[in-house]
Amino acid sequence: MPKQYAMVGGAAMLERTVGVFVRSPLIDAVVVAIAADDRHLYEDAFGSAPSAKLLAPVTGGETRQHSVLRGLRALAPLKPDRILIHDGARPFVTEAIIERALAATETASAAVVAMPLSDTLKRADAAGRVVETLNRTGLWRAQTPQVFRFPEILAAHEAAASTGNQEFTDDAAVAEWAGHTVVIVEGSETNYKITTAEDLAMVRNVEPNVPDIRTGQGFDVHRLVPGDHVWLCGVRIAHAQGLEGHSDADVGLHALTDALLGAISDGDIGQHFPNTDARWRGAASHVFLAEAARRVRARGGTIANADVTLLCEAPKVAPHREAMRHRISDILGIAPQRVSIKATTTEGLGFTGRREGIAALATATVILR
Ligand code: MG
Repeated sequence: MPKQYAMVGGAAMLERTVGVFVRSPLIDAVVVAIAADDRHLYEDAFGSAPSAKLLAPVTGGETRQHSVLRGLRALAPLKPDRILIHDGARPFVTEAIIERALAATETASAAVVAMPLSDTLKRADAAGRVVETLNRTGLWRAQTPQVFRFPEILAAHEAAASTGNQEFTDDAAVAEWAGHTVVIVEGSETNYKITTAEDLAMVRNVEPNVPDIRTGQGFDVHRLVPGDHVWLCGVRIAHAQGLEGHSDADVGLHALTDALLGAISDGDIGQHFPNTDARWRGAASHVFLAEAARRVRARGGTIANADVTLLCEAPKVAPHREAMRHRISDILGIAPQRVSIKATTTEGLGFTGRREGIAALATATVILR
């Protein structure tokens, strides 16, 4: 599949790229140049009722330059004042970049979004030996969008096509060739072009411009046996039964531990604290929860909230709710306002209804940097 149609964050890359322009109040119309064979992919990506701003796609040409010319010709009847030309494979362009680029053409004929070169440039011979280190002063990496006065860039592209020159690698080069002044506008490091499978894998893992928010869920059950207390959410509660388990059997903390591990895709409580390990016999379960929180922090994560639901007929949870919230907030190192404890019976139904065991559900949200 052509990379423009590969899925990035739940949408085709091209759909995301086009969406930024379609949503911009500064843009009146958008036309996309596509390969003839990609029409069905385009229709799949944009659906049957795309935005009114999005005109019918044009079929691109042999070269990038030729495809742009066809797009320009399609827009000519609208008599646009200015035009932004953008790569479909740069989905992380922002409204701020569009605004800066357009603002630059209030005074200049054309503007190209670019970033200063930070790497040192080497020239090498055919054998891979460095023959020269180039001075990078004044060198920029051109990105898109590139903004032009519409009549000027259309005329420049038509003139370039009539000379048969198809060697231009971007539209600013066409404008420069036609004698127009092009100014640089600062782009963004995250406005990168997705070119290789490696680029695609990278953006699928870490998206620029979007907070990386993860949710995890956990579930646990422990059997009720004769006893005189239970541990629930880090609080010891006197009770006519006890909970059976290798550790202190705190079903609430176990479910929450799994929720945190789930949020960072880091296995589960049984994997980190196997019940075959004598170290965890009778262990206080805050140790498990604290370790899960440490693992979240080690990944650069911040715990945004934790929510636990206990399922039991007894003991009554309400009198202990505040103590549980504060205990969990202490273990996780987050404010009690970010911790929620809820409880429900199961109306006498099932193993919890028959007081054979207590179950717990938990969710946790983690924000990764
Ligand atoms: Mg357990």
